[in-house]
Amino acid sequence: MSEKKKSLKITDAEWEVMRVAWTTKATTSKEVTAALNEKTEWKSTTVKTLLSRLVDKGMLGTKRTGNKFIYFPLVEERSSIEILSQELLTKVCSKKVGKVLESIINDSLLSVDDITRLETLLKEKQKTAVKEVPCNCIPGQCQCHLVS
Ligand SMILES: [Zn+2]
Repeated sequence: MSEKKKSLKITDAEWEVMRVAWTTKATTSKEVTAALNEKTEWKSTTVKTLLSRLVDKGMLGTKRTGNKFIYFPLVEERSSIEILSQELLTKVCSKKVGKVLESIINDSLLSVDDITRLETLLKEKQKTAVKEVPCNCIPGQCQCHLVS
């Protein structure tokens, strides 16, 4: 039924580390610990564990330079954010996706440029829009199947 989609399969903590890796391009556990200190108060051992998990998951690469390990991203930030939003939207009935997007937009601080881009995108989507989005759920997970 459901189409196969890519999945990030990383935790929120691992995501925080990836953000530092994307920002710095190449980093060390010391740098990550320092960068996240204000937000998380994670000890260096915690950061080292997160880094090695991300290496195991293929999100980060690592190489030894002298006496320290350098970590660098193996996946792009942009494509990871796309997967993240796909993951969110596959968690609800496809009929409710419009409402989810509405509440995300409603809760977001947007720039004038953001809004212009969204307007253009929506006008484009309008051209190929369906009258009603079909439900993609299994019976028992949404209200769609209860209609008599
Ligand atoms: Zn449904």
